[in-house]
Amino acid sequence: MRDHLKSLLGLPDGPEGLEPLGPGSQWHLRGWCAEFSDRRTEMGYQQYCQHFTARQLLLALGTWAVLLLLFAIPDYLAMGWSAPFQGLLAMRVGVALCVLALMRAVVRKPWLATQGLWTSVVELIGLASFMLVYVLRPEIAIWTYAMTLLMLIMLFVFVPNRLCCALAVSLVGALFTLAMVSQSRSLQTREFVILSLVLALPIVTGYVSAWRVQMLQRQQYALLMAARASNDQLRQEVEQRRALQEALRIQASIDPLTGLNNRREYEKLFSREMARARREGRAMSLVMLDLDHFKHINDDHGHAAGDEVLRCVAQLCRENFREVDIAGRLGGEEFIVLMPHTALREAGEVARRFLQVLSDTEIAFEGLRLRVQATAGVAELQAHEDHLETLLQRADHALYAGKQTGRNRVMLALPDGQVQHYQGGAMAPKEPGV
Ligand code: GH3
Ligand code: MG
Ligand code: MG
Repeated sequence: MRDHLKSLLGLPDGPEGLEPLGPGSQWHLRGWCAEFSDRRTEMGYQQYCQHFTARQLLLALGTWAVLLLLFAIPDYLAMGWSAPFQGLLAMRVGVALCVLALMRAVVRKPWLATQGLWTSVVELIGLASFMLVYVLRPEIAIWTYAMTLLMLIMLFVFVPNRLCCALAVSLVGALFTLAMVSQSRSLQTREFVILSLVLALPIVTGYVSAWRVQMLQRQQYALLMAARASNDQLRQEVEQRRALQEALRIQASIDPLTGLNNRREYEKLFSREMARARREGRAMSLVMLDLDHFKHINDDHGHAAGDEVLRCVAQLCRENFREVDIAGRLGGEEFIVLMPHTALREAGEVARRFLQVLSDTEIAFEGLRLRVQATAGVAELQAHEDHLETLLQRADHALYAGKQTGRNRVMLALPDGQVQHYQGGAMAPKEPGV
């Protein structure tokens, strides 16, 4: 029945994508008063359209006040400065003052416009006062009657009000009118029925028009809210996806044990730094570090102790190299540090200081105090070198020489293929045969 009525009035079905508008749904609309059954949804809607409704109400009230006062002119022309005219004028001014008071209140508190109570009270005052015209100007009763009909329809289509309030006010207005007309002259039943029907016409027309508008506005609101909710959901999903992508990127580029760059990421960063070094014509060096006798730590204190040592070495790398240096874990207990803008000997010096810090550091693990040393191989990028692999090979070669000749030392891979023990200011002679 309800659906049939809706289609008869040309109302579309509930907004697509919304839950059905049936009872229990947040968006369910109460049929006769065209408001959301859910109080919070209705309040949300009223708040949403509060400013718009307030502006419309101000316009309607302003127009009403102006018309009220303007109609004093024909009154005066017809009645002169007589007692009935003064009575009517007092009524007009009184109602206009009520209207102005409501306008002032709405300007200060726009929510009054959607609440319905004060609009209805002022409308009732206006209608009741208007009945005075029937008494004081019986000669124009037919015009007054036509004006009443106009006012009844205006209550629905011109003055924004809650539909239930507008209906109540218009019914009371119709009853006032019937009472006034029957009082002024005795009506026959036939006349009374016709009069009632004529009064019912603007009420039904106004009610149905306002009902359609109110229903459509609320459906649009529901649709807007649904679109916003789905946008929010979409935004959340995008955020989650972005976070997931970031987590995957980190997983794919970071060594989980130490938090340093893994080999894959390292190769990527190396290509970038190499291109930059070439572009800027600046030096770039690479330090390869291998912990000495690391196997003993695992064997003597367990794998967990070894892991802790690796984590600690990584932390020392982060703390002792520059921001621009790129540290990574090559695998096992081998680390690598790429040093942009750094020539071979400068890199050797940095590596030497690092080995010193490392051997001075005590690593605490389950009551143990572990110490670890490392050997470093340092190589500088040569003009003909295009791949990380060749640079790594030369650094590895120097590192191997360091292991062979006693460990805990820095070995430089010289451009001529030889290696040299770097000891700080003074250089040791080149290592023979390596
Ligand atoms: P050298 O001074 O010659 O480098 O001796 P080393 O014992 O350090 O070298 P070796 O290559 O013999 O041993 C490396 C050890 O590192 C063996 C392996 O079990 C251990 N290792 C590799 N990766 C990890 C790891 O992720 N965690 C732990 N705890 N140990 C690891
Ligand atoms: Mg090793
Ligand atoms: Mg080792």
